[in-house]
Amino acid sequence: MTPGDILGHEPMGIVEAVGSGVTNLHVGDRVVVPFNIPCGHCFMCDQGLQSQCETTQVCDQGCGAALFGYTKLYGQVPGGQAELLRVPHAVTALLPIGVAEKLMRKTGADRLAALHMAFDLVRRGGTASTAGVYGAMTDPMPMTMFDKQVHVRMGQANVRRWVDDIMALLVDDDPLGVDTFATHHVPLSGAPAAYEMFQSKSDGAIKVVLNP
Ligand SMILES: [Zn+2]
Repeated sequence: MTPGDILGHEPMGIVEAVGSGVTNLHVGDRVVVPFNIPCGHCFMCDQGLQSQCETTQVCDQGCGAALFGYTKLYGQVPGGQAELLRVPHAVTALLPIGVAEKLMRKTGADRLAALHMAFDLVRRGGTASTAGVYGAMTDPMPMTMFDKQVHVRMGQANVRRWVDDIMALLVDDDPLGVDTFATHHVPLSGAPAAYEMFQSKSDGAIKVVLNP
């Protein structure tokens, strides 16, 4: 924190004045203010990733979209714990009450144990998500993942799923070059040396075919 910072990043209130570019809000409207400040028309906003807005992201800190009432890490934008709040990009950064109430229900998963439980409960092939703000760089995951809104996927390749699409590429003039992809063909007796060569990536070894 820096002396003079004004906290408060999820305020609600009544519109006192609107800027010339604001057409969807009027003086007297009751509103809630999401914590992030999106422009509403950049690549990220168009994808529905408003927390990554390219217009307001805080590049000098390596962070996503600017937030209200936070430290310089997220742009040091004065927050809502004040008599008045200036809302940049108010067309998209403000929500009229009613729309907002449905969206403001949040759940918290701020403990590693809760995250592990989610992984236990989710069905195979399902998606586990966390909502709300959680820890720092180690609990439960690096904060960088939170800031960058990263999806984590892992698991075995669903090979059969892609076979029908890929097969045509294997039999039709070999556009992927798989016929010539192997760098070495050796007999089984040459396997130990081939493994050594592959391990050290010597002799340009990329793919070795063992001919029995
Ligand atoms: Zn944007």
